[in-house]
Amino acid sequence: MQLTLWTYEGPPHVGAMRVATALDDVHYVLHAPQGDTYADLLFTMIERLPRRPPVTYTTFQARDLGGDTAELFKTACSQAFERFRPNAMLVGASCTAELIQDDPGGLARALALPIPVVPLELPSYQRKENWGASETFYQVVRTLAGPRAPAPGTPRPAREPGAKPCCNLLGPTALGFRHRDDVREITGLLNELGIEVRTVAPLGASADDIARLGEADFNVVLYPETAQQAAGWLQRFFGQPFTKTIPIGVKATKAFIAEVLQLAGLPADTPLPDALSRSPWYSRSVDSTYLTGKRVFIFGDATHAIAAARVATEEMGFTVVGLGTYSREFARDVRDAAKHYGVEALITDDYLEVEAKVAELHPELVLGTQMERHIAKRLGVPCAVISAPVHVQDFPARYSPQMGFEGANVLFDSWVHPLMMGLEEHLLTMFRGDFEFHDGAAASHLGRAAVPPPAAAPAPAAESSDVPAVAETATAAATVAAPAASAPITVAQWAPDAQKELQKIPFFVRGKARRNTERFAAERGLATITVETLYDAKAHFGR
Ligand code: SF4
Repeated sequence: MQLTLWTYEGPPHVGAMRVATALDDVHYVLHAPQGDTYADLLFTMIERLPRRPPVTYTTFQARDLGGDTAELFKTACSQAFERFRPNAMLVGASCTAELIQDDPGGLARALALPIPVVPLELPSYQRKENWGASETFYQVVRTLAGPRAPAPGTPRPAREPGAKPCCNLLGPTALGFRHRDDVREITGLLNELGIEVRTVAPLGASADDIARLGEADFNVVLYPETAQQAAGWLQRFFGQPFTKTIPIGVKATKAFIAEVLQLAGLPADTPLPDALSRSPWYSRSVDSTYLTGKRVFIFGDATHAIAAARVATEEMGFTVVGLGTYSREFARDVRDAAKHYGVEALITDDYLEVEAKVAELHPELVLGTQMERHIAKRLGVPCAVISAPVHVQDFPARYSPQMGFEGANVLFDSWVHPLMMGLEEHLLTMFRGDFEFHDGAAASHLGRAAVPPPAAAPAPAAESSDVPAVAETATAAATVAAPAASAPITVAQWAPDAQKELQKIPFFVRGKARRNTERFAAERGLATITVETLYDAKAHFGR
């Protein structure tokens, strides 16, 4: 066992909680010690859900271990059933409770509850959160839809003539990265194509919806990490095909449309939805300094990392210098993708390894999880988040999908904006010696005639300095005309550290900052401008 500060995935029962919380009328009874109730906070604080997850913890304490913890579990189950009246119940154990080997499945069966009970065997010490979510969803589907499966070998009945093709969307869970918005985007896209979305599962599905999953013509797998296993089972038992294309990026969204039209039995030339993405034109029209050849490092769950690499290279003109995932179950897919970009895949769940790789590769942009956002911040590299693990800001109030045509717009905005700072630096370098850009220059739209001569000739750029070589002349007391007053005022003397601080202000606003500070000091009769005076003046004029 390794102690760590951060982890990409929680234990598998957190994955089970993500499925239970997504479902509508299902309750999860978790054999767990008192401290494990912390997991509730993931949903209420990070996802900002307005309710607690539908989970009852047995919350046994150390002193209970000598007694009958099995009885504790049975009581918790019965009370949860009486109190919440769910239509299905999940039962399982957290990491610690797994060690006391109470068999929650057997204990719940012994209660003979009048609802389906899904026992979850989630090996906490070998598997992690996404596996736990996938296994839970699969077991829920198997238990609830299984009784309606046709006899093996029964051909799937043809769709009624004139009936609209229909599908299910599988995979979105609670605490998923932009799942809520992806569902809305893809549902809208499918509806525009004339395809009905019967059930979205697990997010928002009831136990009865799950039981009827097999009625749709096909399944759309949005997140293979959580839904591929269940979709495979539905294909085997109900003959329902499922999609393989993840609609992230404009090209993949078009490929996804072609795939669903084929699965729905609709003509391949069914008109595309009107809402085509702005991102292809933006990518072509934006200043090439932002995009072309930018060296990008990508890390996340397999689905989002592979999609990000494809969008980065094919749709934005970036160069992938590193690609990796923490999803060991999908490592092969990421390795194949990495080969395509001529890099070696980084498969790890150790953020320190990821940090070392980013430091070694010196990318210009990092596309990653919240972990990489921290790493990139420490290393001073621009970053955009593309995948779980999520943080509170990954649940924005606005509509912000990753999938479909609007998702492509969101990707463009969120990946290119962190590079804006790069453009500013590029402008600073380009104009640092320009005669028009000195502190005494008037606004350029007033023309050359309005430009007073600089107070002193520009000093040569210091070799080690990045700041533009413009004169800063106010070190000695001088007399200048204050903009707001007709009478001349005496300019205070700049202390050396204040002068140094002034140099940090971008050159195109530095002159104004200097004049404002001197006016502020003069109005207060200050003889010396210190760093504090500079910031007091900033606060004063900023009000
Ligand atoms: S026992 Fe498992 S769930 Fe509980 S705190 Fe430890 S790692 Fe987290």
